[in-house]
Amino acid sequence: MKHHIKELDARFGSQNYRPLPVVLDKGEGVWLWDTDGKKYLDMMSAYSAVSHGHCHPELVETMHLQAQTLAMCSRAFFSDKLPLLLERLCNLLNYDRALIMNSGAEAIETAIKAARRWGYLRKGIPDNKAEIIVFSNNFHGRTVGIISFSSDDEYKHQFGPYLPGFHIAPYGDIEAVQKLISKNTCAVLVEPIQGEAGIVIPPKGWLKKLEQLCKTEDVLLICDEIQSGLGRTGTWLACEHENVKPDAVTLGKALGGGLYPVSAVVGREDLMNVFNPGSHGSTFGGNPLACAIAHKSLDIMERDQYLQNSANLGKYFLEQLKTISAPCIKSVRGLGLWIGVELDPAYKSGRTVCEALMEKGILSKETHETVVRFAPPLIITKNQIDDAIGIIEQVFVR
Ligand SMILES: *Cc1c(COP(=O)(O)O)cnc(C)c1O
Repeated sequence: MKHHIKELDARFGSQNYRPLPVVLDKGEGVWLWDTDGKKYLDMMSAYSAVSHGHCHPELVETMHLQAQTLAMCSRAFFSDKLPLLLERLCNLLNYDRALIMNSGAEAIETAIKAARRWGYLRKGIPDNKAEIIVFSNNFHGRTVGIISFSSDDEYKHQFGPYLPGFHIAPYGDIEAVQKLISKNTCAVLVEPIQGEAGIVIPPKGWLKKLEQLCKTEDVLLICDEIQSGLGRTGTWLACEHENVKPDAVTLGKALGGGLYPVSAVVGREDLMNVFNPGSHGSTFGGNPLACAIAHKSLDIMERDQYLQNSANLGKYFLEQLKTISAPCIKSVRGLGLWIGVELDPAYKSGRTVCEALMEKGILSKETHETVVRFAPPLIITKNQIDDAIGIIEQVFVR
């Protein structure tokens, strides 16, 4: 069975991923099962999409009910669910307006369109001259527009020609941003903590300086919170740790409760009102099924104190990981339940560690070969972390 599935993938799939050799067919809470019935602890949470744990019963019920009632009607008509989600997001994060899309990449594309138009309408930037500043090792998605400003060859090689209008500053460098700002700069787009780059936390105070610089220069600050947001770091938004209030944020992943792709841009009035009918849209964006699930997923996070759990257990988990003494570990870093262990490639590769963890019943995935990430669903308990630590230690020390 397992073998057959992998053969089908190899034969019929475009090989744009290299999964670990495990075939999953069931999930519940923090647990996953493979087709042989072996149980695993999920330390990956589908890049934060499964913050609520797998198949959360209340979310499944909400999905089921909404699917039976009205799943899809397009934005050609009002639905009774979309405005409620917009209100919920704006009140929760203290912003004026929101726009719902599906994937994270679409939310980023939406933010780029809004920022450019804001530049033309509000700043008087000459037509087609708007510039956006981004950062080295960024990850904002996979569209042609977004990979155009990636600094990683793996994401963009042979997919050109690329979209102009972006400048890349080194992550964590404020002078470089200052130098790149011109009269045509409309926005700075930044991950408050870089996820795919390996859970990279910028120098303390940098994001605050970036916010001040943007204010002084009349440039929008847009934070990509698709992976870092909604409790992953112990707060609703990761930029709260630096007391920063961006002009807009992008959300995705956990917003869909692990069941359905839902993304959003949430922001300030003068940015979010640049769109007029016809200027932007998506067939599935903001459909009733998506909105019902996203609304419920926020309610559950708040009611069941996901943020507190992420903050408290994240701190505990990080401390425990730091006590492991193994020559292959170079550093351990993280915030909330979002932790990266940087390996010394002379000893072990991320892939080897992830395969060894898999053998012992823990699923994770390396990023950039040398970082193993630990990002369990935010519902994980202290006992579950204690059990995992024992196994993780064995794997690193061996
Ligand atoms: C995953 C991710 C995206 C892209 O989201 P998709 O749903 O895969 O399109 C964008 N930004 C960040 C920070 C991400 O982690």
